[in-house]
Amino acid sequence: MADCIFCRIAAGDIPCREVHADTDFVAFRDLNPQAPVHFLVIPRRHVAALTDLTGADADLVGRLQVTAAQVAAKLGLAETGYRFVINCGRDACQTVPHLHLHVLGGRALGWPPG
Ligand code: AMP
Repeated sequence: MADCIFCRIAAGDIPCREVHADTDFVAFRDLNPQAPVHFLVIPRRHVAALTDLTGADADLVGRLQVTAAQVAAKLGLAETGYRFVINCGRDACQTVPHLHLHVLGGRALGWPPG
């Protein structure tokens, strides 16, 4: 989608601090990091939000999480741990309408989240 910032990042039209790229996913550092390590993993295919997923997307979402865990390990988070976050919709403060998984780590994270 031409007007989607994450589609444009996936297409290479907007620069990012990439930490992983493959046929289906791109991972890059968050512009406004909330932890010492904070990156996003996105599917190249445009999916606006969790609410748009269907059963046909189960494999995509599974591989999205496996990819995120592998990148987290590559960045040294496997031993100390990390958190996955997917914000969906207004109440969860989703600001970019292209499905993205946040991976946060590198410090002790508070719980419950705000
Ligand atoms: P969310 O609030 O869950 O929709 O998260 C969107 C995230 O995208 C925020 O943490 C932003 O800092 C991040 N973000 C927005 N634009 C960019 C960009 N061009 N490169 C990297 N991260 C971005």
